[in-house]
Amino acid sequence: MPSPVWHPYAHLKTQSPAPKVVGGEGPRFTLEGGESLLDATCSWWCMIHGYRHPRLVEAIQRQADELCHVMLGGLTHDPADRLARELVRITPEGLNHVFFSDSGSVGMEVAMKMAVQYHYLRGKPAKHRMLTLMKAYHGDTAGCMAVCDPEEGMHSLFSGFLPQHHFAPAPTAAFEASEEEVQADLEALRHVLEAHHEEIGALLMEPLLQAAGGLNMTSPHYLRGARALCEEFDVLLVFDEVATGFGRTGRLFAADHADVTPDIMVLSKGLTGGYLGHAATLATDRVHDAFIGDSELHAFMHGPTFMGNPLACRVALESLAVFEEDDYLGRIQTLNGVLCEELRDDAALRDHPEVADVRVLGATAVIEVHDAASLEGAAAFARQRGVWLRPFGRWLYTMPAYITGEDDMRRITGAMKDWFVSGRP
Ligand SMILES: *Cc1c(COP(=O)(O)O)cnc(C)c1O
Repeated sequence: MPSPVWHPYAHLKTQSPAPKVVGGEGPRFTLEGGESLLDATCSWWCMIHGYRHPRLVEAIQRQADELCHVMLGGLTHDPADRLARELVRITPEGLNHVFFSDSGSVGMEVAMKMAVQYHYLRGKPAKHRMLTLMKAYHGDTAGCMAVCDPEEGMHSLFSGFLPQHHFAPAPTAAFEASEEEVQADLEALRHVLEAHHEEIGALLMEPLLQAAGGLNMTSPHYLRGARALCEEFDVLLVFDEVATGFGRTGRLFAADHADVTPDIMVLSKGLTGGYLGHAATLATDRVHDAFIGDSELHAFMHGPTFMGNPLACRVALESLAVFEEDDYLGRIQTLNGVLCEELRDDAALRDHPEVADVRVLGATAVIEVHDAASLEGAAAFARQRGVWLRPFGRWLYTMPAYITGEDDMRRITGAMKDWFVSGRP
């Protein structure tokens, strides 16, 4: 009998049987039968320490021996308290309050509910819609689907089921763009805000890097401009750093490139080093303090059963300690150097007729093609070379674990590049 496991985003009629992973070590996982594959996307970008990191494994084991779970409703525990303090310390100045949940999508749901209730409690109940960007991806739950790109967001068939929000065009200026060059993108945001600010409660964005929507990158000037527009129109700024957080763009958080503090920030994926599902929604005093009041409507009505799970908090604390002690930002810079040299600056790749663009930011690189058909067979080609790639749509990308060595990084970029410039069967 075939396995009853139903896989994500899988086409049931054409899917090939999923290879079975039996273990992993560092940047590689091992399949039943012994095949070892270098994971170029570190399990959808969360396994930033790679597999079986001894310190993370031990942190979970020790915590399991003390306390596996207790609900945060009316109780607290050390791992949650310590992790919240650490997150306040490392995130942009002013994010002083931490609401835990169990996944990136739920973390974003929490952010949106917080924004709506914030305005409600300030006497502005009409500000109950979101402003979001084309090419955005914020998660797969209903509330999140409604703020993903309506066409490319994998959710168009659900449009009748979803609440309606406002969309602005995706930013077009590159990471290196000047302040002048982002003005057109900011004008597009202003345009929507001028028309609809009375019903817009928050502007949502994946800062600098729209990940699942096609690895679209933009400039820190765009973040600063968005911050100013939010002040002008009394709209909260929400940064979804689920993908960009914990070093992916070259700084600890994408917000750090722009010296901007959002009103609300969401973290997940890399938070626990990928070892357990968890998320955190951080808020400033301004947002938090609006919830201090006498009416019963002042309570924030949300509470996932597993919020602040001690195992997840403990492994997140260990993940952060390793990140700092082992100079991950330095490692990311080294990986970035390889990605720039081998992909961005490779003329044969850039000029290849099938290639539309090659972009690199931090420990992220993407080859965008004109036609998705150009990538058919690329994953199998890479696997022949011991590399696990998972292209989607028109994007062949890598977001490696930060412990990936230079040689392995070159092995990954080689598999990506050779698909175009040599060796294709
Ligand atoms: C992955 C992702 C999410 C959703 O996180 P899940 O843990 O899969 O629910 C939300 N936002 C961004 C930017 C993501 O990359």
